[in-house]
Amino acid sequence: MTKSPLILSVASGKGGTGKTTLATALALSLEGPVQFLDCDVEEPNGHIFLKPEITSREEVFIPVPEVDEKACTHCGLCQEVCEYNAIAVLKKRVMVFPELCHGCGACSLLCPEKAIKEVGKEIGVVELGAAASRNGSSIRFGMGLLNVGEAMSPPLIRSLKEHIDEEGIVVLDVPPGTSCPVITAVTGSDYCILVTEPTPFGLNDLVLAVEALNIMGIPFGVVVNRAGIGDGKVEDYCMENGIEVLLKISFDRGIAEAYSRGIPLTEARPRYAELLREVIDKIGG
Ligand code: SF4
Ligand code: SF4
Repeated sequence: MTKSPLILSVASGKGGTGKTTLATALALSLEGPVQFLDCDVEEPNGHIFLKPEITSREEVFIPVPEVDEKACTHCGLCQEVCEYNAIAVLKKRVMVFPELCHGCGACSLLCPEKAIKEVGKEIGVVELGAAASRNGSSIRFGMGLLNVGEAMSPPLIRSLKEHIDEEGIVVLDVPPGTSCPVITAVTGSDYCILVTEPTPFGLNDLVLAVEALNIMGIPFGVVVNRAGIGDGKVEDYCMENGIEVLLKISFDRGIAEAYSRGIPLTEARPRYAELLREVIDKIGG
């Protein structure tokens, strides 16, 4: 291992490309200390494949404002500073919309009457435990579970990432897309593996993900999943832009069937364990 820890994020510009298939197979294939953190907190499904034993659970809260109407003069400053329209000052009342609040603390900090105090609002939980790898050693496991209807996933992802190990290889399963939760999950990674499929949609979303990673300055490579179903435009794009294609996973009905039954790629097609170890060698793990 060249670094401790080596943080590898596995991302995709859109859902359904095989990101979790790859992330879990990677964790199962590696030797030495490995940790898997499922940052796809709106729909975590890494546990379906890794089958961890959960040993601890912690609730995650964000601070939201509570207004003391007796002390408030309805000056309107809190509404002015809130970038998220989470607080509205009416003539005789201040209304707080906790579901819009990002817990930034600006309103309570700036209220001239000290009429705002912060109260904790639960947004989800972090679960921690361990799973068995292919060689019988232990994979440290963690996942975030966002409460239903809750929109604030970045604070939950940050709480989960506070559990990143201090050594070994850490695999982060990143939410799909290129929005705020993705940036939160990928930040701090040493390398990002972008999973895509060889279709026009796959290419379109890959380009967006590549742009985001270039801005963040995080090195990355591409894994083409379901190779053979579409055209060669993803590979052409990678070649033209000097992006390394780390691995191609052929379209295989058996892999799709295994996925639907919660069977990891490395169990359905064991040869990929060796190929994934070679990918890590290429990356520098
Ligand atoms: S900033 Fe403070 S005093 Fe002014 S409206 Fe908001 S809660 Fe009331
Ligand atoms: S804590 Fe921040 S986001 Fe929440 S209401 Fe106050 S200013 Fe708005």
